[in-house]
Amino acid sequence: MQTTKENSKSTDSQNTKFNFDYAPALESTDIVQIKDRNLLFIDGKWVAPSQGKYFKTINPATGLPLAEIAEASTKDVDNAVKAARKAYTKTWSKLTGAERGRYLFRIARLIQERARELAVLETMDNGKPIKESRDIDIPLVAAHFFYYAGWADKLDYAIPGQKVSPVGVVGQIIPWNFPLLMAAWKIAPALACGNTVVIKPAETTSLSLLLLVQILQEAGLPDGVVNVITGAGETGTALVAHADINKVAFTGSTDVGRLIAKTVAGTNKKLTLELGGKSAHIIFEDAAIEQAVEGVINGIFFNQGHVCCAGSRLLLEESVSEIFVEKLKIRMQQLRVGNPLDKNTDIGAINSSTELEKIKKLITTGQNEGAEFFEPNIEMPDKGYFQKPCFFNRVSSAFTLSRVEVFGPVLAISTFRTTQEAIAKANDTPYGLAAGIWSEKGSKVHKVASSLKAGVIWANTYNKFDPTSPFGGYNESGWGREGGRHGLFPYLNTKQGAK
Ligand code: NAP
Ligand code: MG
Repeated sequence: MQTTKENSKSTDSQNTKFNFDYAPALESTDIVQIKDRNLLFIDGKWVAPSQGKYFKTINPATGLPLAEIAEASTKDVDNAVKAARKAYTKTWSKLTGAERGRYLFRIARLIQERARELAVLETMDNGKPIKESRDIDIPLVAAHFFYYAGWADKLDYAIPGQKVSPVGVVGQIIPWNFPLLMAAWKIAPALACGNTVVIKPAETTSLSLLLLVQILQEAGLPDGVVNVITGAGETGTALVAHADINKVAFTGSTDVGRLIAKTVAGTNKKLTLELGGKSAHIIFEDAAIEQAVEGVINGIFFNQGHVCCAGSRLLLEESVSEIFVEKLKIRMQQLRVGNPLDKNTDIGAINSSTELEKIKKLITTGQNEGAEFFEPNIEMPDKGYFQKPCFFNRVSSAFTLSRVEVFGPVLAISTFRTTQEAIAKANDTPYGLAAGIWSEKGSKVHKVASSLKAGVIWANTYNKFDPTSPFGGYNESGWGREGGRHGLFPYLNTKQGAK
């Protein structure tokens, strides 16, 4: 094993230049009120779980509990589906698109009004830096509701030549990495299309969705249109298996996605799966190197690497590989890992001890396989679940780090000599969620983009999201699209012969 330590002479002299720190700028948590015990939300009411079971959610930056969350049993799931069916038949499907749109616009505006509260709560429960929850997650949550509110009365024009109708009751299951954003990606198009919802958040991050419920109530959303069943994997299994669900929308790991696909196979349920990734950045020698370094940093260290489309593989054209790696090291030396509520923090806490252990195990595997390991010499918090950002250089395609999704701030670097080799290496993965191309030459960007098997391709930027743009993957990264006009399709039945 070769280990490149950051204390080489050249890096040391460059580091001294950054030998200062910002004064802490902590976001106050006073705006957030967390109930000690949180119930299920079924048919417009807060209800206790039928088996009386609760589990704890923690703040991963401190390791301390924040609250107790109700665990929904199969019976609770059934009650939630019944409430959603009743609301679908009696209320929601009877409204016009314009009326549904009005509710969604109201929800979007209330999200904006309570944006700070939502951002602080998300950061406390998830561990992501406040500057991300405040500037990225919550604005995008509101943007999704605004965007799909606009579609609600225009569905007849969404698919030319087709008459559309809602699918009915949808079961939705979301992960912990973007808790409220994933909820918005699911709830907004479902409601715009006239469906009702039963949604399960991830076990470790239920709180922001429970706060969104308060907003739905404030917006006057009719009872049963959105039902929230908190719980673990078993609650999710019960939801997927429920006979009266017309569609399942899942975002999470490829392994659980496979299980869900098996359960749904042979039924009439529609299914969309948004799964994992091992996305590549391709840096050509003519790229603007400083911007590309920043893009790579953003691509893998943003949100602690807890991003399905994280740029976790870096392919460097050989002629610029050394200079690029040196610049990357210098930039990593400036990253601040720490209290997610501090506005200066770049990298917050890993969401749970389980996830942190998974990341550490994969780092050990990478070290044992013999790639060059680098981690910056930066201060780390002494409590909570934190991972230093790091990379492995000179990884071959056979290494675990080139193939397996780490879902943490860990980058795998390799080189290429020709464009064909770059394309072949980028596509050499069972996934196909995203890719980043860095080159000043537009024709090269277009040529490479058309050869990459990835759902989203960014050029000279990374991790840019917009509700008008569809998102989704190839192969083991999933089925179907969310976002944009395409994001309406899974929530609509179609019939030939419309306007
Ligand atoms: P996960 O373990 O698959 O969990 C996702 C959700 O499924 C959670 O709510 C989970 O509940 C629930 N669940 C677990 N087992 C289930 C089962 N057997 N049946 C039904 N539901 C079940 O994924 P994760 O580790 O939380 O999330 C990270 C993964 O999500 C990564 O692979 C990432 O790439 C992917 N992701 C993809 C996208 C995308 O758009 N493509 C976006 C974000 C994340 P518990 O939390 O209680 O276990
Ligand atoms: Mg938590």
